[in-house]
Amino acid sequence: MKYFAGVDLGGSSAKIGLVDPSGNILKQDRVSINARSQFVNIMTLISHLLEELHNDTPGELAAIGIGAPGFIESQTGILLAGARNIPNLRGNSLTDFFKDKFNVPVFADNDATCAAAGELEFGIGKKYKNFVLLTLGTGIGGGLVLNGKVFRGSRGFAGEIGHVCLDPGGVWCNCGSRGCFEQYASAPAILRNYKEKCKKRGSRFPENISTKDIFQLAGKGEKCAEAAVEEAASAIARVLGICINLLNLEACIIGGGVSRAGDILLKPVTDKIDDFAWSHLRKDVEIHIAQLQNNAGLLGAAAQVLERLSI
Ligand SMILES: [Zn+2]
Repeated sequence: MKYFAGVDLGGSSAKIGLVDPSGNILKQDRVSINARSQFVNIMTLISHLLEELHNDTPGELAAIGIGAPGFIESQTGILLAGARNIPNLRGNSLTDFFKDKFNVPVFADNDATCAAAGELEFGIGKKYKNFVLLTLGTGIGGGLVLNGKVFRGSRGFAGEIGHVCLDPGGVWCNCGSRGCFEQYASAPAILRNYKEKCKKRGSRFPENISTKDIFQLAGKGEKCAEAAVEEAASAIARVLGICINLLNLEACIIGGGVSRAGDILLKPVTDKIDDFAWSHLRKDVEIHIAQLQNNAGLLGAAAQVLERLSI
């Protein structure tokens, strides 16, 4: 039996798993990463764990897929920029190290692009040939599937939807621009907006409140929480409306940690998109919460291999 390795490289740890062609995880483990470690040390840790899992599993390791934050060049696997939490990855090829060691095809993609591949191969995206996926978390990422294939653009950087400008005079973003989508619908943005509303309206809130709590409060009808969720939903709907008008999509999929809010987010987004997309294009588009929630990163990293090799 053939299986594929997925490596989900995050700021503090890497999840590594062996995945069969149907998306079943045969084995998985994780390794902690010290953000200050040298590149070669990080890669060596990951490859040791991968080797252990592989030696322990009957069958053939057919290929390896790596997902990481930042700008990753498709052809070379070089992480050119981004990955603020693990800066020592920058300027290095994420793929060459594993190619030399395991002698199998190795691919690397931005984590949101991987998430789109994950939904396409193993999730709700299996039903569609044209969809956009948003990952709403600490930041906002995006992935595009067009004509049944992941769209990567000329060098592999396509889908930076979090930095689409919604307001040229708006909140400064850490990318250097103002009014980026990420500043209105990421988890920290929703939290900031909620706290500002509470302060303005003179209502109290616990200092350690989380974005998850805000969605729960909104579900109970708390006014500031409802307003914060409405405004985030409006920003999401505007961006999805742009995508629908531009690309004639069949579906929009909302993933990332914020998507765990479920219907309390999905419903206002679905309602508001009508205001931002042309009705002929809007009427055929289904809006979903991502199906792969736990292990989305790992499955997405492995799924890019199936998608790229067209297995
Ligand atoms: Zn930005």
